[in-house]
Amino acid sequence: MLTIRGAQRCTGMNVQCRAFSVSRALDVVCPATGKKVNSYEEDTIETIRQKSKKAAAAQHSWAKVPLKEKIKIIDQFGKTLEQNREKYAKDLSAETGKPITQAHNEIKGVQPRINFFTDNVSVALETHLARTTETFHEEVRKEPLGVIANISAWNYPYFVGANVFLPALLTGNTVLYKPSERCPQTGLNIAESLHASGVPKDVFVPIIGKGAAGEAMLDLPEISGVFFTGSLSTGRKIAQTVGQRMLRLQLELGGKDAFYVSDDVDVDKAASALADGAFYNTGQSCCSVERIYVNEKVYEKFVKRFVDEVKTFKMGEPADPTTYIGPLTLPTQIDVLEAQVQDALAKGAKVLVGGKRASRAGNYFEPTVLVDVNHKMDVMVQESFGPIIGIQKVTNTEQAIQLMNDTIYGLTSGVYTRNEKEAHKVMTSVSSGTTYWNACDRVSPFTPWSGRRGSGIGATLGQDGIQAFVQPKSYHFIKP
Ligand code: NAD
Repeated sequence: MLTIRGAQRCTGMNVQCRAFSVSRALDVVCPATGKKVNSYEEDTIETIRQKSKKAAAAQHSWAKVPLKEKIKIIDQFGKTLEQNREKYAKDLSAETGKPITQAHNEIKGVQPRINFFTDNVSVALETHLARTTETFHEEVRKEPLGVIANISAWNYPYFVGANVFLPALLTGNTVLYKPSERCPQTGLNIAESLHASGVPKDVFVPIIGKGAAGEAMLDLPEISGVFFTGSLSTGRKIAQTVGQRMLRLQLELGGKDAFYVSDDVDVDKAASALADGAFYNTGQSCCSVERIYVNEKVYEKFVKRFVDEVKTFKMGEPADPTTYIGPLTLPTQIDVLEAQVQDALAKGAKVLVGGKRASRAGNYFEPTVLVDVNHKMDVMVQESFGPIIGIQKVTNTEQAIQLMNDTIYGLTSGVYTRNEKEAHKVMTSVSSGTTYWNACDRVSPFTPWSGRRGSGIGATLGQDGIQAFVQPKSYHFIKP
């Protein structure tokens, strides 16, 4: 039994921590069958503290490993992942319900991240000359943060994990890595591949457990940064705790990603791309297309074409390579989607396709398209994180921009148009960390991935996503 023993003082720290001391089994259930996939022993507060001490002790010697050697190890990690891809994809698919073809795609997607980080890390570590004269010299050197706590999500565990642990390790940090409780095996597989490739065991340390284990990590005296990927509600709690400790904090949170379809668009292309952007990974991507605003001149044609596309999506078992729509990973997400549909219908929306739990075993929800929607409905302003989309008719670009900015989230946005000026107008007016012209649901390792407002703080990927793991130290040399 895991027991929360109320607030205790952590040794030597002026912070509160809630401690649990007795280990218990963490069961993982397949979202498609409801059957137990595997059982894991959760870390306890004691094992988390021991691991953290070891990670702190290992940090200085890891930082001293020459960058060339670190790069060699991370390159080897890419090869080890690839050698194990068959098994790792099956594990990921079994524990999260991700369709197997998409699980393979995700693991393959780590290699471009490895390439970017290994090619670009040296810039982040360069010493900069600030000023030099005959009497003094000032320069800025970069240091790793130290031990970082990486608390991660289940929807793309390889991507969101690699976005953090690759630059963290390359810049000389040690990492306490907590995969989501929905995919502990994937977390252990990542650790296995890193260790087999040459990362010492105390340099990358998996921590297995639920939210309480993540909470305990926030109180560890050894950590100097918290890098979190997950929901806005958990992000808020983490920010409150971490704010007391003055740690570096990065939050990659949810989205309500909005797209405008202009009146001059190639309807076929836009409908097909946006449908894929909305329903890939069963709609469980932080950058899934979550709402679409369509110019009234092309609205009827676009909606028809979009619904036709959605009807072609094959729902099935995660293990079937032809499956496109799988089960939802969280059983509770079905309730969220049902409530959003009911709320929308009660306020005047129409369901064109789907709208309910699928009539099969497992956490399946029918791909759903809602029209006649507006911003009084939850489906247009709250994250859905499932195979459901609202399409709203608008009269012009200005109205689309106003609606696109009308949520707490600001992760991605975009516009489909042939007109470059129109694209520029929308892209520069929408408040989001990433914005696209004629694209959606797209992540590049070369550009920072960041959110505005409720979508997060800080950035992963790009040069900013490497700088996040180092801190400047100013050196002043005054001649005697
Ligand atoms: P979640 O917030 O439920 O859990 C995320 C992690 O936090 C898990 O490891 C969990 O065990 C841990 N956790 C839970 N409570 C905690 C607490 N009080 N203190 C510390 N740790 C705690 O999120 P989820 O369901 O795993 O992920 C889905 C969410 O993640 C969606 O909102 C999605 O949009 C978002 N996401 C964002 C990005 C991005 O790049 N912006 C990427 C992927 C997912």
